[in-house]
Amino acid sequence: MSRVIFLTDHRQAPAQVPAPAHLPMPGEPLLDTRGRPLRDLRISVTDRCNFRCTYCMPRAVFDRNHEFLPHRDLLTFEEIAAAARVFVAMGVRKIRLTGGEPLLRRNIETLVALLAELRTPEGRKPELTLTTNGSLLARKAGVLKAAGLDRVTVSMDALDPAVFARMSDSDFDVARVLEGIEAAAAAGLAPVKVNMVVRKGVNDDQILPMARHFRGSGHVLRFIEYMDVGSTNGWNMTEVVPSADVVARVAKAWPLRAVQDEEMGRVAARWAYADGAGEIGVISSVTQAFCGGCTRARLSPEGRLFLCLFATQGHDLRELIRGGADEAGLMRALAGIWQGRGDNYSEHRAQAGPDLTAAGGHKIEMSYIGG
Ligand code: SAM
Ligand code: SF4
Ligand code: SF4
Repeated sequence: MSRVIFLTDHRQAPAQVPAPAHLPMPGEPLLDTRGRPLRDLRISVTDRCNFRCTYCMPRAVFDRNHEFLPHRDLLTFEEIAAAARVFVAMGVRKIRLTGGEPLLRRNIETLVALLAELRTPEGRKPELTLTTNGSLLARKAGVLKAAGLDRVTVSMDALDPAVFARMSDSDFDVARVLEGIEAAAAAGLAPVKVNMVVRKGVNDDQILPMARHFRGSGHVLRFIEYMDVGSTNGWNMTEVVPSADVVARVAKAWPLRAVQDEEMGRVAARWAYADGAGEIGVISSVTQAFCGGCTRARLSPEGRLFLCLFATQGHDLRELIRGGADEAGLMRALAGIWQGRGDNYSEHRAQAGPDLTAAGGHKIEMSYIGG
């Protein structure tokens, strides 16, 4: 029997854009209803990808019949830069490009160059980063750096080729991802962060081999708890390996000490190897909600602004931009949207348990909004 799965909510009506309570003065933080400032912007530049990671784009759903966004619906680079300028004026200090696979968007370095021209109200360049599956990174690292990219995060879920193939559901050679990581570091996009999503019984046997490989390399390996994003991956709590278990396993092999880091908006807890061989991070999105410090806004490929990874509705900025809104108009819209933000899905999940997932409706997909 075939299953009907509603994918992304970009087919649903966008949310209304509310009027701002007040417009913050330049340099004054824009706060949401829980006092969280707007600091980070993730920009998803495409909903397409050349991998089919089972936890993100299961092939049974993202098959050849799947309708990706047509190119005309995507924000152009100029539109993205115009939106980003407003976000930076309103407090964003860090911009991350993501997808889908962001390096599939043709001439992505042109967008990087446009974003690299932005300045915060204090006159600084916002930090520019990109998350990639690494497949095209060896080829692209140099031009990305030259265009103004500061760092990259590479997703890599296993060292063992068979496990890598099972996680990414592709026949792409993991050795080329490793080459991409080295090319990025050599180009100066360092320190390179390597993100490994851990799924119990699928790739958790790779925790120690990955730790061994990246110890002392200068790259920072981060273990991510498998999350209930979207509605297609069949997520189940039993497949989550709590970060505390990951830390215990690594520490048994190589003693670790906690690194204190109170920076708001930082999601990874940091652990340093006691022997000085660098550090690892753990991102406990499931077992330890960090909504209280969540300062992230997310812009979808066709210009919808989402306030939470688990949101079911976004605000249509593209309509405003293509409707001729000027910078002041976009600022008012952004202020109104952020000031109305109260999202805290992970805290709810922690209280309500995994059943929240079933009750939560059609959440956006990770491959659409980009993590
Ligand atoms: N394609 C790029 C990549 O893989 O790095 C960028 C987009 S991808 C959606 C961004 C991040 O989301 C990746 O690190 C990926 O591992 C992570 N991710 C996707 N689905 C996830 C899930 N269900 N739980 C936890 N992390 C997930
Ligand atoms: Fe593609 Fe990244 Fe999703 Fe994997 S995690 S399917 S590489 S978008
Ligand atoms: Fe932020 Fe939503 Fe994640 Fe909470 S659940 S940390 S609000 S993205």
